[in-house]
This record gives sequence, structure tokens and C-alpha cells, in this order.
Amino acid sequence: MRIRFWGTRGSIPVALTAADVRDKLAQALVQASGRTFATYEEAHAFASSELDFSITHTFGGHSPCVEIELPGANEYFVCDMGSGARPFGVHVMAKQARAPATVNVFMSHVHWDHIMGFPFFGPAYAPGTKIRIHGVHDVLEHAFRLQQSPPCFPVEFDPLGADIEFVKLTADKPHTVGGLTVTPHLQLHSGDSYGYRFEHAGKVAIYSTDSEHKLENRAEAEGFAKFFRGADVVIFDAMYALAEAISVKADWGHSSNIVGVELCQMAHAKHLVLFHHEPANNDATLEGLLKEARRFEELTRTDHALKVSAAYDGLEIDL
Ligand SMILES: [Zn+2]
Ligand SMILES: [Zn+2]
Repeated sequence: MRIRFWGTRGSIPVALTAADVRDKLAQALVQASGRTFATYEEAHAFASSELDFSITHTFGGHSPCVEIELPGANEYFVCDMGSGARPFGVHVMAKQARAPATVNVFMSHVHWDHIMGFPFFGPAYAPGTKIRIHGVHDVLEHAFRLQQSPPCFPVEFDPLGADIEFVKLTADKPHTVGGLTVTPHLQLHSGDSYGYRFEHAGKVAIYSTDSEHKLENRAEAEGFAKFFRGADVVIFDAMYALAEAISVKADWGHSSNIVGVELCQMAHAKHLVLFHHEPANNDATLEGLLKEARRFEELTRTDHALKVSAAYDGLEIDL
């Protein structure tokens, strides 16, 4: 199983600014410290292998869209249709080379940052393509149609070329979709959201975004520990720092880096991936939150180590 992140920012897509780019370039020149490169390839190799992560990468960008690729499968699996669905669609079209695709979408919920990429998802316009949009919400189809209704978008939903089907899932019940086992689980979020537990060939991936946790509620914490149990990777809503999450931003429907570590430790999960980054946070702040989570994990580690990463557009994780 391979996880590929197409969109990792929460609430609204963000782009690097000109000032951000200049800052990264200036830092790269300082780190190169007078070295010269005869070719683009030499310079590229230096950038790829020797420069700091924060100079060569940026966290977030597009809003949520995460692909799960199964080895040998001829269907696509993807969580949410945030703005990352646009580059995901380009990838699908290129890989298919004109053959129609079958795409299975799993929707956490229908807030705008999770559906906004669908009108820009190329395969939706390609006749012969099959798109099955899975979710637990009754309003799923209504929300997709609504965002493409006049006067907000020039192309309405009905004329789309693909064959689009909405499939209702039941919470806490395992379903099999194209060889992948998927179990949705209710999460605390305005209008409800659902996390997904994906299982295939002995590997487990959890997609749990837009989810607030009240760990003082033991039953709730244990419910999530059970849902995350033994996962190889947990993609987790870590929009805020812990201090924000429990004070000013309590009840805003999101969680923190530290709560992610605690729940993954309870669940004996192997790898926590911080996700749904706050749009106001720049790369330095996000790197700080990642370091804080790693420090907390080291300090509270008991019998097993938990790997902690922060998601960025383009990240791939092989399970
Ligand atoms: Zn969101
Ligand atoms: Zn939301």
C-alpha cells in the first residue's frame, strides 16, 4: 500500500509567497557557501541531498486529498476532494493514457475545503470514467451538486462526462471496495465528520481529519485508540498546537500534534502523520510543531517508539 499526499492544508489552500521563496533561496545560498555547480543536475543533486528540509520543501499547499494506491490494482482510491484533487486528476489522466479510470472517493465530510477540488478533477469530465463517492453523510450528493450550481460555478454537475455514483456507508461497519476494506468512524466536528480505517494485505492506514478529541472523556479516547489500533500509519488532524486547542480554539472541531501522539501511543500505532495544517502557519512554525511532537513522543515513550512526520504535498509513504 502506498499513501500519496496531494493536499495537506486545512480550511483553505495556501501558496508560498514571493518573500517565502526569496527567504528559501537566500538560505540555500548561505548553505552552499561559495560552492559552484557546472550544471543544473549538479545543483539539483546538491539541493536534494545536502540542503535542510525546510529550504527544499513546503508543508501544506492544497486542501485535503490523499491517495491510497494498492499494488496491482486497476482502481484508484482517494480520501477527500480538496484542491489537491486537481493535481491528483492530472496524475490519473496521465497514468491512464486515455483508458477510462475507476476512482473510489471516501469523503470525511462535505466542508468546502474537502470538496472544492472536484469541479477541477479532470477525470470527472472524461466519458467512460467511473467515480464512486463514498460517505456516511446523507447530504453528500447535495453538497457536490450545490457547489456546482449557478451562480457559483460555470459547469453544472449533471453534464459531467463521468458516470458518478454516490455510495452510502455505515459507521463502524467494514465495507469492501475494490479489494480494500474500509471502516468509517464518527468524529467530533461541526456537522459530523468520519475517519476511515483502511486495511489491505495485513497493512492498516487511518485517515482521520477534521476531528476534535476530548481525551478527558475516557470512553471517547478508548474508542479512538481501538479505531487506530495497530495502524501502520495514522493521518491525523493536527491543525493546532496543544495550548491553542485546549484554550481559544476549544470546540473549533480540530485537534493538536500532542493529542495525536497520545492517541497513537494508546493505539500502539507505528507512524503519526500531522495533517490539515493551519493556513496561518508558515513552514518554520509547522516544523516547530513537528519537533514539539517528536520531543513529546520521546519524553512519554514507553514500550514502543512512534515515528512522527508532518504531511506535505508530494509526500509518499510505503507500507
Ligand atoms: Zn477541513
Ligand atoms: Zn471541516
